[in-house]
Amino acid sequence: MSPRPVFSIAAAVAIMAVFSIAQTRTAKTLDIYVIDVEGGNATLFVPPSGESVLIDTGNVGPAAARDAARIQAAMKDAGIQQIDHLITTHWHGDHFGGMAELASRVTVKEFIDHGGNVQPAQPADDFLQKTYPQLYAKAKHTVAKPGDKIPVAGLDWRIVASGGEHITSALQGAPGAGKPNPYCSSFQPQEVDKTENAQSVGSHVTFGKFRVLHLGDLTWNKEFDLMCPQNRIGTVDLWIVSHHGQAISNSPVLAHAIQARAAIMNNGTRKGGQPDAMRIIHSAPGLEDLWQIHFSQLSGQEYTVPGMFIANTIDEPQNAIPIAPIPTPQPGPGAPPAPAHNGTAYWIKVSAQQDGTFTITNTRNGFSKTYRPGL
Ligand SMILES: [Zn+2]
Repeated sequence: MSPRPVFSIAAAVAIMAVFSIAQTRTAKTLDIYVIDVEGGNATLFVPPSGESVLIDTGNVGPAAARDAARIQAAMKDAGIQQIDHLITTHWHGDHFGGMAELASRVTVKEFIDHGGNVQPAQPADDFLQKTYPQLYAKAKHTVAKPGDKIPVAGLDWRIVASGGEHITSALQGAPGAGKPNPYCSSFQPQEVDKTENAQSVGSHVTFGKFRVLHLGDLTWNKEFDLMCPQNRIGTVDLWIVSHHGQAISNSPVLAHAIQARAAIMNNGTRKGGQPDAMRIIHSAPGLEDLWQIHFSQLSGQEYTVPGMFIANTIDEPQNAIPIAPIPTPQPGPGAPPAPAHNGTAYWIKVSAQQDGTFTITNTRNGFSKTYRPGL
């Protein structure tokens, strides 16, 4: 007769309690999770202090519960139970969509935005009039202005754009900030963007020597305003590619001037990654790798990165994606549906150290790469 393990329920509970304490924030790194919300945005920042910042909450409608759950999964991985600061970059459904759902599941202590909606649209207007005030009534509400500092223990968090305005002086202490931007002279403006995209709240975050830039969906001409004639941002280590990698953002005055070593694109299966945008991103000086949240049909093999840098596939398996990109279908009810992805969603995780070293991991395949300062 084999001996029975002597293991009481009380002992098991005690051990689990210790284990769960050990699981709360012991990391010495700033961890950034670029969460797959299918062509929307949800990016979670957790420094060693455990004081968290979430930028955007994913998609509206039936996708809200899915995206809130995906954000919660990243929070669990990071060992946090609440969102201390939620920045909503702008009032488009792929950015504020999961907010009410997420706030019903976890405590959100501060709601930050650029102010009211400038692009009348029923879902956003309804949300802003009815739902949003109820959410922040029990918390703090902040309308961010360029130059504001969001107080986060262990990070220097600066708002560089908000409500169509931008910082008017260079970021203090940022390498290269304040120098003339050589890409401004060849800038070609696009049509004036009157949508919410141009209102996006943009953040520049410093952790020791590590710098990351996230401008939401800020569009092409606003990039010029922010980056010309002086480069007010300087150079960064990591860039969260603007606007899901669409070609109405990501001009060379931004993409080439910031000299990011690595970039992460929050694209969808058929949103972002168009040839025009990819040509600019791939030719960015100093860029070692572009990481993507999805394979994009708009890139084709011609413009995409190797699969090991891509976090998510689609439900209908494909042996290969065609070499040629497909043209972006005209939006509207007649547009063919984008390839669906309802299976497991993988985030791309960044772990940054104070000395500027950072590691990016693709959680689908476990591939990771470390970027060391001065190399
Ligand atoms: Zn968007």
